[in-house]
Amino acid sequence: MNDYDLLVVGSANADLVIGVDRRPGAGETVLGSDLAVHPGGKGANQAVAAARLGARTALLARVGDDEHGRLLLDSLRKAGADTVGVLVGGAPTGVALITVDPSGDNSIVVSPGANARLTPSDVRAAVSLFHASRVVSTQLEIPLETVVEVVRNLPPGSRFVLNPSPPRPLPSEVLAACDPLIVNEHEAKVVLGDSAGVSDQPEDWARLLLAKGPRSVVVTLGGEGALVASSDGITRIPSVEVKAVDTTGAGDAFTAALAWRLGSGEPLDRAAAYAARVGAATVTKQGAQVSFPTAAEVAAL
Ligand code: ATP
Repeated sequence: MNDYDLLVVGSANADLVIGVDRRPGAGETVLGSDLAVHPGGKGANQAVAAARLGARTALLARVGDDEHGRLLLDSLRKAGADTVGVLVGGAPTGVALITVDPSGDNSIVVSPGANARLTPSDVRAAVSLFHASRVVSTQLEIPLETVVEVVRNLPPGSRFVLNPSPPRPLPSEVLAACDPLIVNEHEAKVVLGDSAGVSDQPEDWARLLLAKGPRSVVVTLGGEGALVASSDGITRIPSVEVKAVDTTGAGDAFTAALAWRLGSGEPLDRAAAYAARVGAATVTKQGAQVSFPTAAEVAAL
């Protein structure tokens, strides 16, 4: 019996958002709106999304002993995620400084802070969490050597899900563990490197990515849905038609939902179809963590 359906290993950031009429150039100061502070970071987002759906979820992450860290812990607990693996201290909580202009375009500066101090030894010290979890999910807002250590500590029979965001080339040891590797177009092209230039077809990226070693691949395509690829072939997953208000966090919600459903024993295409409903529900609301749906909201979509 597993204690957790899903263990997320990843980042936790405070998103500091200011609306501006236009972004400042070098040496310039502009006035903006009141500051809004939201809990974010791909790891915390995934943990909140999964817990809100009803998954028994734990997060292994690091935050600072500060106001932002407490905001993140509070949001995780309110969603029902277990914070026993959230380490506190060592550096300030990671921060994303976000300016948004009237057309909705963002400029973002990230200070990784405590996320950069989530080390391989933190992973080894949390090995009991790994043994208590059916599925382990990570992203790349923590050091790559920490992700490698996650792969080395996966217990037999568990499943590993990776969304390589922000993208970078991946070692074959990590690629071989992914089941699935979940990428959007940009991430697919960076992970593929030079070989991506041959085609603009997601089916081709999926095939090329599979050849790099993952047991399965999911390519997310925003409002176009997704496609799943494995040795069984490639399947298109249609999107659910909704009125999109804000797409922030859709990828994190999709990944969390997919990981959870895979851990419950669903085949990849059915899990992806459910995840597409969760992604669609997420884009109908403003914000990231506050926009993640409950299972009842997904069912009502
Ligand atoms: P982000 O980085 O903005 O969080 P992403 O690029 O990683 O997102 P997307 O492909 O934008 O991921 O979204 C993930 C999934 O959410 C899609 O595969 C799709 O199923 C669903 N989704 C996203 N946008 C829409 C939309 N406008 N309408 C319906 N479903 C959507």
